[in-house]
Amino acid sequence: MEKLIDKYGRQITYLRLAVTDRCNLRCQYCMPAEGIKIVPRNELLSYKEIYRITRALTELGVDKIRLTGGEPFVRKDFMQLLEMLSYNDLLNKINITTNGALVKRHISELEKMKINTINLSIDSLKPERFFEITRRNNFNDVWEALELLEKSSINLKLNIVVQPGVNTDEIVDFVALSKDRNLSVRFIEEMPFNGTGKRSMEEIWDYRRILKEIRKGFPEFETLTNEKSSTSKNFKLYDSVGNFGIIPAYTRTICHDCNRVRITATGMIKNCLFDDGVFNLKEALKKDISNEELKALFLKIIPQKPKNGFVAEENRKRNPNVSESMSTIGG
Ligand code: SAM
Ligand code: SF4
Repeated sequence: MEKLIDKYGRQITYLRLAVTDRCNLRCQYCMPAEGIKIVPRNELLSYKEIYRITRALTELGVDKIRLTGGEPFVRKDFMQLLEMLSYNDLLNKINITTNGALVKRHISELEKMKINTINLSIDSLKPERFFEITRRNNFNDVWEALELLEKSSINLKLNIVVQPGVNTDEIVDFVALSKDRNLSVRFIEEMPFNGTGKRSMEEIWDYRRILKEIRKGFPEFETLTNEKSSTSKNFKLYDSVGNFGIIPAYTRTICHDCNRVRITATGMIKNCLFDDGVFNLKEALKKDISNEELKALFLKIIPQKPKNGFVAEENRKRNPNVSESMSTIGG
């Protein structure tokens, strides 16, 4: 089997695909209050196109997919897409990142489809603060989803974007959740992708500062050995059921063994979170290309992955009009 190996020797085995740019929440760090300019529905990849793309990539060694957005569960018939993907025998893991607001009624079906991991975004344990951050009143729905998922057969990770001056006082409380609950708490450094380019990021809470904060509540904990290509540095409280970790998304200390390729909801390939898109697949698929031609395209484009996120960002700055939301990028 031909594989996707870039010029730095990294093999790409993990696809992150945004199924929509639409969302039912309006998180401050992701988009402005009025939302972002969404693309017309017919410009989104269709489910058939998503299946074709995924199949071709899995024939080139990709064995894991994460479906994200926007909010994946707001796209009509998202469960049908999951079912289609679950027929791909070359996919070992299907994961989802969701805000959880619409998840609770789907959990038993998700279990049946053998969804491996759900990353549930929850940035505060306080309903009023949750409202301030997301500009929507869905705390109870998300909390209910959290409790149900924790008891399900699906692995549960919580995504917490660490926002200076907003939720840093809850870092210790989030770690405490991992004591008795079967879940992984993941703190994410905030990145400047909120759709306006305007959010100030003067105070930096990088992974060192987050760790320091955790030590205020829990002076001692163990360091877990990282899986290769893991995005997070992982830890565990002594005798805890769950664990916790930090994703140095902004300081980018994880690029050396990145195994990811991203595809946006409109079919743009991104070789790095920080690039502005390198190829439009939707256009190529309109030309009726064969599976072999599609694979040849991937073999040409994906190995051009930039060395790291700083190189990608430098290239991106040459395009001054880029002001993306994480909802379009597919975080
Ligand atoms: N709507 C889903 C959700 O919120 O989980 C999936 C899409 S969202 C863009 C994916 C992840 O990116 C979420 O965990 C979200 O918190 C994170 N994210 C969004 N904007 C971010 C930013 N500016 N910096 C860091 N993480 C961000
Ligand atoms: Fe929506 Fe997720 Fe962005 Fe929040 S982070 S606005 S839930 S896409």
